[in-house]
Amino acid sequence: VYDDVLSVGLPEGTQIVGFADDVVLTATGCNPRQAAEEARRAISVVQRWMEEHSLSLALEKTEMVMVSSMRLGHPRIPVRVVDRTLWSQRSLCYLGVQIEDHLSWNPHVRHITNKAATVLGALQFMLRNHGGPSSTRRRILASVATSIMRYASPVWWKATKLKCNRRLLNRVHRQAAKGVASAFRTVKYECVILVAGMPPIIGLIEEDYRCHERKRTTGGTSKDIRKEERAETFRRWQRSWDDSANRTGASRFVRWTHRVLPEVEPWVNRKHGLVNFHMSQILTGHGFFREYLWLKKFTQTPDCTQCPGVVESVNHAFFECPGFSDVRERLLGPVTADTLQEHLLHSQDRWNQIQVVAKTITTELQTRWRRANVDSDHF
Ligand SMILES: [Zn+2]
Repeated sequence: VYDDVLSVGLPEGTQIVGFADDVVLTATGCNPRQAAEEARRAISVVQRWMEEHSLSLALEKTEMVMVSSMRLGHPRIPVRVVDRTLWSQRSLCYLGVQIEDHLSWNPHVRHITNKAATVLGALQFMLRNHGGPSSTRRRILASVATSIMRYASPVWWKATKLKCNRRLLNRVHRQAAKGVASAFRTVKYECVILVAGMPPIIGLIEEDYRCHERKRTTGGTSKDIRKEERAETFRRWQRSWDDSANRTGASRFVRWTHRVLPEVEPWVNRKHGLVNFHMSQILTGHGFFREYLWLKKFTQTPDCTQCPGVVESVNHAFFECPGFSDVRERLLGPVTADTLQEHLLHSQDRWNQIQVVAKTITTELQTRWRRANVDSDHF
């Protein structure tokens, strides 16, 4: 019976849509007064229909928002329904989407990013009490946060054109990716999502919109459309990854991560290899390397403690420092920075060997760093 209300004859310029028992009535007008009058007429039609079917409107749950492009805001015009007066609000929430009176989607983006951050925080806390989240568990957490942010995105995706909204979305997404990649909190967004294997949130939202549009206009199966559009997302991601590493002024760490992980798609779609805390340091350069510690003002000099006059970059520690030649000769073999990705993707065995080298070296550097700090405490 309830569905019939959706097909009730309404005055021209008004429209009714509904989902479950949540119904939206829209009325348009050249000015606020006219729109309000249209709304009032449409509501009385619905009201009459309800009465005929022995139903009643839950007026206490009825809300109204006047949407316009009037810069100075619109006059508050009341709409009288039975014995109640509805006043226009700044925004209302329909099916989880915040609709604001100037169709700015910023309140919605704020709402979903807060929600995703809260969920992420709560789940991280709960899992910590169960022996700490593994990379797989953290991946699930991240996907929960990502789905919260992508919800109904074809409706509001244009919000991502604004820098302030992109920043809000990227901040929460970065938080999620940092957990998956076990990375230092200082790692840049573009690096941490790649190491975590998580496509950029803005790219995913644009992909959702493209899928939605194609389904709406051309038909075709959702699965095929999604597959093609995902391929497009990867092409765009690759382009922007290359750009961020090649642009003048790119940080040494972004260039490093790009050097060791130049190819986005095979890395993200690999079937083996979980990145842990040690591997993540090698891939990002943010770790217990003296160059990084020095840049962050944790040490006096960037030089390697074993090789006077040589900067201890991640490249030096992992590929060059004679102090680690033992483990390197045993397990790393011919791998260089430029072939690291190829070797990591080769097989689980190869991955594991490289991971042992990463663990040996970063653990030793961490121990040295801790020892140096304990010593300096005595002075
Ligand atoms: Zn050295």
